[in-house]
Amino acid sequence: MIGFPSPYPEELLYSTIARSGVHDGETSPKQLLEKVFKNRKVIATLDLPSHLQVLANQYPKTLGMNVNVLINRHTLWPIYAPFLPPERNHEIIKWMSGRSKGAVHLASGIIASRVKTKGRLYVCAECLKEQIIRYGECFLSRHWQVPLIKTCPKHASLSVTTIVIDGEHRHTYTAIGEVEVLDALEISSIDKLFSQQVAQLMQVKSKGISSAQWTTFYKQFASSQGYLDGRRIDHVRIHNTVITFWGKCWLDNAGILPSDTETSWLKGLFRKHRKSFSFAEHIVAIVAISNGAFTICDAIEKASNITTSNEKSSYKKELKPIITNQLSQDQIEWKEKIEQSYPKAVRIKNKALYARLYRNNYDWLMQINRLFHAEKIVVNKRVDWKQRDRKIARELYCVYGELCEDLNAPHLSRTFLIHQLEQRGTVEKHLNRLPRCSTLLCFYSESITEYQSRRLTRAYLEMQKSGQEIKRWILLRQAGLSDDRMTDIVADLLKEMLSE
Ligand SMILES: [Zn+2]
Repeated sequence: MIGFPSPYPEELLYSTIARSGVHDGETSPKQLLEKVFKNRKVIATLDLPSHLQVLANQYPKTLGMNVNVLINRHTLWPIYAPFLPPERNHEIIKWMSGRSKGAVHLASGIIASRVKTKGRLYVCAECLKEQIIRYGECFLSRHWQVPLIKTCPKHASLSVTTIVIDGEHRHTYTAIGEVEVLDALEISSIDKLFSQQVAQLMQVKSKGISSAQWTTFYKQFASSQGYLDGRRIDHVRIHNTVITFWGKCWLDNAGILPSDTETSWLKGLFRKHRKSFSFAEHIVAIVAISNGAFTICDAIEKASNITTSNEKSSYKKELKPIITNQLSQDQIEWKEKIEQSYPKAVRIKNKALYARLYRNNYDWLMQINRLFHAEKIVVNKRVDWKQRDRKIARELYCVYGELCEDLNAPHLSRTFLIHQLEQRGTVEKHLNRLPRCSTLLCFYSESITEYQSRRLTRAYLEMQKSGQEIKRWILLRQAGLSDDRMTDIVADLLKEMLSE
């Protein structure tokens, strides 16, 4: 076809083909198929069309409009690709380039999905107005046609049109300028949130992520978000969080209200992946569990970077070395320790052991650490401070009782007294929580004057006892005092002693 139009940004190829008919003045749908594809049996497909090599051939090479560009930018491929394994994506792309005969929709999981494709064309009335001003014609933006999407990322709610998809006109590419726009949809804030996630997802280029990668991702995700019960996934809490976040009604309308049964898709998502899950299920789980902190794009990036040794059996392999009996002494030791604690704590206490394992059994170490990754939840054993205050005060009383009788005791400073206690760390840090102890410490601790007086008294009594003549300089030396350091009160006391 001469002068086949280039797609506008985010335009669905369905819309580009319809426009080519308008540009060419072609009114017969079959004639249009003949002109574009040289094939009258092509089905007008919105989401994942095929025969794309023929379309790509319409453009000069210099435009760079190859099959991959058309698929990534002008079909709904980005909402399926990251959730399918790479080898399947490879096949699907092959079918989309050439003939599909339904294989694309089967292999991508669209046919079996709980999330149903849209039965009609949807548009954003505001976008259509802007398109006319900017381009002089209207086109279909791919975001509008994504299943479950009710809002335009730029404006508000989408409107439903009269065009039924896959009905009697399955070979007809309907130009958007010809559709009758009906009522705008009713939307909620949840619809907007979902729409934002999809808008981001549409810009992701992914070759696919294996089931093993997604399995590992969700295991780590549940752990990092605190959704483990011991070492098991806390399915009940996950279920409740998802329902609270998105609302029963919204999930039900979307066709993905998770059930309470063992076969619930949500439980399946956090177990070993045996089949693929839809973009909507991934978004719902990731956003709810992270309370909006994690986007679908974050999840895709993280899952893509997970390395699993061998796709098919990586899940089993992950567990296999751990249950084997042929572990080295170091491995056995690490395993025992890690079961009691968690990797970081064990590593800090056993640096040499960790270093040996890191050198000799790196893969094994990473695997087992991942399994025991969840840090033990610290149970806040609430301290009964009143009781603790009483207990330490009793101890302080006894300590002081012994020391105050001893004239040879060192300076009974506050610090010295605290250091005689069993729980000195607690007292130092939390004295404000220990009022009794605090009062007793003020009462018992010696000032400089008191201490000097005690030393002077001790020296005086000793000299008297041994029948020594009380001479000032000897008394001062025995007491370890000097005129410079003596306080006034002690100086007076000294005078009194000497006058006796
Ligand atoms: Zn819009």
